Amino acid sequence: MKLRTRSHRRMPTRDGVFVYLPDSASIMRLDAEAVTVLDRFECREGLEAAEYLAETGRGRDAAAEVLEELCDVGAIRPVEEVRPPSSSLPPMPFPLATLVLNVSSRCNLSCTYCYEYGEDKLPGQGEGKRPASMSPETALRSIDFLFESARGRRDVSVTFFGGETLLNREAIEAAVDHAEGLARATEKRVHFALTTNATLLDDDIIAFLIDHRFGVNISIDGDRASHDRHRSFKSGRGSYDTVVPKIRRLLAAARGRTRPIGARVTLTRPLPNLRDLYAHLTHDIGFDEVGFAPVTSAPNRDHALLGDDYDDLLAQYSALADDYVAAALEGHRHGFSNLGDLLRELHEGVNKAHPCGAGLGLVGVATDGELGLCHRFVESEAHPIGDIENGIDEDRRREFLEKGHVNRKIECATCFARPVCAGGCYHEAEVRYGDASHPNLHYCDWIRAWTDLGLRAYARITDANPSFFQRFERTSS
Ligand code: SF4
Ligand code: SF4
Repeated sequence: MKLRTRSHRRMPTRDGVFVYLPDSASIMRLDAEAVTVLDRFECREGLEAAEYLAETGRGRDAAAEVLEELCDVGAIRPVEEVRPPSSSLPPMPFPLATLVLNVSSRCNLSCTYCYEYGEDKLPGQGEGKRPASMSPETALRSIDFLFESARGRRDVSVTFFGGETLLNREAIEAAVDHAEGLARATEKRVHFALTTNATLLDDDIIAFLIDHRFGVNISIDGDRASHDRHRSFKSGRGSYDTVVPKIRRLLAAARGRTRPIGARVTLTRPLPNLRDLYAHLTHDIGFDEVGFAPVTSAPNRDHALLGDDYDDLLAQYSALADDYVAAALEGHRHGFSNLGDLLRELHEGVNKAHPCGAGLGLVGVATDGELGLCHRFVESEAHPIGDIENGIDEDRRREFLEKGHVNRKIECATCFARPVCAGGCYHEAEVRYGDASHPNLHYCDWIRAWTDLGLRAYARITDANPSFFQRFERTSS
């Protein structure tokens, strides 16, 4: 029986080699003998085990043992072995974990890249068919719907999204109060998160966010010049000078009393210096974490990243990853959250059947109570999946999830990034290909390079300070 290696990724470190096995999403350290065996079986046509053992000459038993171990972990398998790809779903109806409430489709800024105004808006989106704000009654009914749909779960999450979320404090406060009451009555834990442009933060809302332990994400693009380039009021005046004092007040009041507060930076071309930008947001302003979101889904607009921008972005992410690794080796936390999130997934052995929780554990609610796959789909006519009064249309949900399963995406079958990518964002696929279940093939090179960067960082940290990852275990319950 001929054997050959399965798809894998190697990460050399100072003291050895780690290997990532996408079939099982596992990472293991290899010794020199195992690397030799892996090298020998890295051939398309395969090799008989007996032939290999005959040619080794020395240490046949040891070589046979290593080969057996590599077969057991799935790094080497029979050439003819065909694993019928299963695209089966977990038992349905799958209990909801997260509801994203679009409490306001209005905004007091007019950022140039906002998808509310952009070419990546889907058909039907934003045509004034829905109320601009969610009523408190709809917010309350949405919370009822979440608790009814979260059977068997101990933890549920409510994320408030917009437009600018804080334009509708009434609905947010009503939803939080109701959710906490229901959590007490049903012995569940409820968690809240909110994204805001920070223009409307005041002492009242800061106290409210801290009291209810909100995870807060603030959209800010760096120093004054970077930020004001796109994030301006409708008058054209930049918003940096308005938001930074308010953010500082929030950070000072929240320190140690709520979850880490993150900056969310939208990256446009020409790219700024990300290390400088990171230093400004963490050291000068005081954010705990910084996450970067490149504009990718509007190729015809001046600000969307193109071709060479991705090389630059990767080099800059690589520099930030070096800083992250250096901090981790000294046992410190670094706030580059894109990498932190990826390392957590690698450490937990995440092996995604679907790119994200949209339509599975997570759904979005439009201002009028219609349900969409996530916050990006919620205002469009693409893939509505019910409403809060009648619940999820389970036939549509199942059909969507079956089509979106990674094993239905032929191009992804041999990709080493499959466990963390699974074809990429449905909404981006809908914009690019008119089909949410299409793999996002336009950015495969980027995803693979980024995943490789994460794997190398993971291996370097594991090599020198494996206890660093215990913090992920402590916070993942
Ligand atoms: S979309 Fe591309 S990068 Fe992602 S899993 Fe599929 S082939 Fe890999
Ligand atoms: S479909 Fe895209 S935008 Fe929506 S939750 Fe998934 S990754 Fe996010």
